[in-house]
Amino acid sequence: MQIGGVLWDAEVVRPEFDQVSSDLACDLCVVGLGANGLTAALAATQRGMNVIAIDADRIAAGAGGRNGGLLLAGIADFHHNARKLVGPQKAAQMYQHTLTELQLIESTTPNSVKIGGALRLAHDDVELKDCQTHFDALVADNFPVEWYEGTQGVGLKITSDGVFHPMKRVVELANLAQRAGVRIFTNSPGLEINSGEVITPGGKIKANNILVAADGNLHRIFPELKDKVHPVRLQMIGTAPSKEIQFEYAVYVRDGWDYWQQLPDGRIAIGGGRDLSIETEFTDVNEPTEFIRNYLSQRLRELNVNNKVEYHWSAIVGYTHNDLPFAEEVRPNVYAIGGYCGTGNVVGSLLGRAVVEKVATGHSEVFETFRSN
Ligand SMILES: Cc1cc2nc3c(=O)[nH]c(=O)nc-3n(C[C@H](O)[C@H](O)[C@H](O)COP(=O)(O)OP(=O)(O)OC[C@H]3O[C@@H](n4cnc5c(N)ncnc54)[C@H](O)[C@@H]3O)c2cc1C
Repeated sequence: MQIGGVLWDAEVVRPEFDQVSSDLACDLCVVGLGANGLTAALAATQRGMNVIAIDADRIAAGAGGRNGGLLLAGIADFHHNARKLVGPQKAAQMYQHTLTELQLIESTTPNSVKIGGALRLAHDDVELKDCQTHFDALVADNFPVEWYEGTQGVGLKITSDGVFHPMKRVVELANLAQRAGVRIFTNSPGLEINSGEVITPGGKIKANNILVAADGNLHRIFPELKDKVHPVRLQMIGTAPSKEIQFEYAVYVRDGWDYWQQLPDGRIAIGGGRDLSIETEFTDVNEPTEFIRNYLSQRLRELNVNNKVEYHWSAIVGYTHNDLPFAEEVRPNVYAIGGYCGTGNVVGSLLGRAVVEKVATGHSEVFETFRSN
């Protein structure tokens, strides 16, 4: 068997949707149907808006259907570093918002999500010290955390974190959104996105408000964001099932450069190694490389995992120069969310919901918290 393809695709049938084939109108047009765009579309329709949601490809074509499946509180920088970056008060606000979002994610898509803790482990003595500082910062703000010393290593167990099956969650969200009344169209790229309208090959969509949730493609869609967000490729491999080894918790280690989770059937999905080939991964070319595959295979062996590697895939995400995700009104009534720096499953969902709240009520505290970044 040739190694390739996306593990998350294997056991899930993605629903198909029509293409845009005529001019349409709505209150809110959501562009980009990963989990974050779909969360926003569902939230908007639940608030009574008339919503159209489009994707250039199928649903979950981007990182939303190809990621590690870790649901982590906070932003990409660990909490003690976030405190230095934005100040203790704002860092605590951001973290608290993501904790609330984690609960909403679990209650919205319970069939694909499991909250039960994830581990940030120490790779060496230097990281062990950093884990201690990280732990102290979470304790200082009363956020849920336990010190972990067990079969998987030493570090923090962040009890509010969890895991999910990325493809199952996007499909669950799409089904919920469609049933709630969102009109979903795929294979319908937004070719031009201006205040009041999205132009697709099959027709114009008139929209009072537009939300673009296309993290890894924002630099192409909005020239004005080019200096703010740039594309980065992340890669993962997936193994055959096996019960030989059992990891109770999902893990991130080496300051988050490497991460993995084990599925109920014993398969392991592991990602990382970007720091070892940093220049090649500053790209929007979505092609996995042999170098990273070899690195991740070696990591598996170090973990005593001998399962055969069956899958290898990549996806493009958006990184910002200041390490902070953002929600921004790029043009009048045109909003963009992204720049999650590789950790966008919780923050992205939070920001999608925040834009909807702002559009619906004129104000969103979450939007304001992330706006100035
Ligand atoms: C390998 C990997 C591992 C990761 N692991 C984790 C993790 O464990 N935890 C975590 O929190 N984050 C992780 N991330 C990051 C996370 O996956 C992303 O931050 C998140 O999925 C972004 O979701 P999204 O819905 O905003 O965008 P995406 O899921 O990328 O979706 C964007 C969609 O926009 C569509 N699109 C683009 N341009 C247009 C256009 N012009 N018109 C219409 N549609 C368009 C694309 O087709 C795509 O479907 C990982 C990412 C990768 C690649």
